[in-house]
Amino acid sequence: MKRFSTSFQKMLGVSLIGILKCPSLMIARYGPIHPHTAPKLGYSSFVQLGRPRGVEKMQDRIEIFLGDITTLATEAIVNAANNGLCGGGGVDGAIHRAAGPKLLEECQSLGGCPTGDAKMTQGYNLPARCVIHTVGPIWRGGSHGEYEALASAYRNCLELAKKNAIRSVAFPSISTGAYGFPKDRAFRIAFQEISKFLDQSKVPEKVVIVCFSEDDYSRYTEAITEIGEADPKSREL
Ligand code: ADP
Repeated sequence: MKRFSTSFQKMLGVSLIGILKCPSLMIARYGPIHPHTAPKLGYSSFVQLGRPRGVEKMQDRIEIFLGDITTLATEAIVNAANNGLCGGGGVDGAIHRAAGPKLLEECQSLGGCPTGDAKMTQGYNLPARCVIHTVGPIWRGGSHGEYEALASAYRNCLELAKKNAIRSVAFPSISTGAYGFPKDRAFRIAFQEISKFLDQSKVPEKVVIVCFSEDDYSRYTEAITEIGEADPKSREL
């Protein structure tokens, strides 16, 4: 765990100042952080998923990060975009602002993106080398294929990362902002799709799940714990 933490901290360009243990998660805190001036940034959990299977240990490959995805130096970050890939609010707006105008130029050359699919661009001024743009479903009550579309968005991002030999990728909580997907359900789908993919593939090596609020962070870690406690096999779908 420590070896992984050190290499990952280098990758993210932050300094690890402490590791705490709790029953189902490894919680790490990154610094320098002032608890009053930057309460939302720098908390990270290394997910511990029961007994390691084979050589790969899942807990070395998934991290929950509390903060702004545009600051992460993973090789790719995922954008929760719209069908036109024309920029917007939320995480999409933040990514375009941080990347600069060339990102929009490249996006406009891609011919849009269907819901559940993914397309890749360069990262321009972002610390991340590339951006994987995906379009999550708009929540319409749950009977319009929203669950499958959300799972598909995660899968297609990971497939695209794998195809391009991307070693580390960070995800925001797709569809849980303006698109209104109920968060607890979205968090479960996200985590299950990511763990299922990593179980079957060595690439990407690392996935960072980014939560943008303390509340999301708590709910995400709770959802993961519940998945593990309810049915350990659910992680091996
Ligand atoms: P969608 O339209 O797919 O719902 P949003 O951008 O509205 O996309 O929200 C998706 C998620 O991204 C929300 O949980 C929101 O809190 C989060 N988010 C917004 N800005 C950022 C950011 N800079 N870094 C990480 N997550 C963010």
